[in-house]
Amino acid sequence: MYSLRFQLLLSALIAAVGGATAFYFHPSFLLSLVILLGSVLLSYGILYFFVYRPLLRIQRVVDAQEDKLSVLRFIASSSDEFQRLSTSFNTMLESFRADIIRMKKLEGVRSEFLGNVSHELRTPLFSTQGLIETLLHGAVDDKKVNRDFLAKALNNIERLNSLLEELIDISRIESGEMKLRLRYFDIVPMLRAAVADMQTYAGQREIVLTFVGPADTPLEVFGDKERLRQVAVNLMENAIKYSEKGGTVVLSVSDAGDRAEIAVKDTGIGIAPQHLPRIFERFYRVDKDRSRDVGGSGLGLAIVKHIVEAHGSTISVKSTVGIGTTFAFTVSRTGVE
Ligand code: ADP
Repeated sequence: MYSLRFQLLLSALIAAVGGATAFYFHPSFLLSLVILLGSVLLSYGILYFFVYRPLLRIQRVVDAQEDKLSVLRFIASSSDEFQRLSTSFNTMLESFRADIIRMKKLEGVRSEFLGNVSHELRTPLFSTQGLIETLLHGAVDDKKVNRDFLAKALNNIERLNSLLEELIDISRIESGEMKLRLRYFDIVPMLRAAVADMQTYAGQREIVLTFVGPADTPLEVFGDKERLRQVAVNLMENAIKYSEKGGTVVLSVSDAGDRAEIAVKDTGIGIAPQHLPRIFERFYRVDKDRSRDVGGSGLGLAIVKHIVEAHGSTISVKSTVGIGTTFAFTVSRTGVE
């Protein structure tokens, strides 16, 4: 980049060459002086119009960008405009580089997500396809297997359906489309009903599911009733899924002053400490095969975490392998954080 000093030096050089040439051809002092001054003006003009002015225009564009992004700093202290221009360019470049790194990272997350989704969809789809093909190739007339194959196909379709519902939920949450409908309501009957709805599933898996909460006193909270029900159901479903036959699951709610505390405690398989920090990530599963066998998608806890955090709370987990797991969170009773 040409500095101002260099620009002046160049003007002086052109002027001196002009003056010396004029003196050589016509040794008149006055005429040489006029030609010298003319050369100075001409060279300065050339530099101004063809170098300095275009650079100034670029500087203005950079400055406008600076305002728009509010990232670039205004470097006013430099006496050298070209120095300032180059510094602005460098700062802009740094900002663009940071943007590109961020976009590449997002691109990575997006393709990983798409990879996971297609993998999750493929398994039940291929399995259903195989079952239907076998039925068409004659198994439909075999009374020993036909109903069993159809039941398995139906099971796969139900799994696909719940996976799609969870995917829709997660995308609505992450795009900010899912708005909470916050209001005051008594959380006790809602949780009691959710436990009652889960009894059939618990019975099928031979798990004893109970509710513990205030008997007759209402416990009013400020939150989204439907979403909080979804959290409770999801945690109970996991507690049942990851327990052996004969285990127990307790959903409890208690008054903790200006908040209500909800916990789901099981006597299940537990989670090893190294997995605990990651279980709330999308598609993370401790034991993929076991999770798939019990119809898991790896999205449940990610949705739970989003909903609980949208209520201004955090979800905690305590677990010991072979002993059991407890998930807990609180909900505001006042609506004031
Ligand atoms: P999934 O659909 O696989 O159950 P989640 O997001 O609900 O996905 O849970 C993530 C993982 O956390 C599960 O795959 C399982 O390994 C583990 N997990 C969740 N809840 C429990 C629990 N109550 N007991 C033991 N492991 C659990």
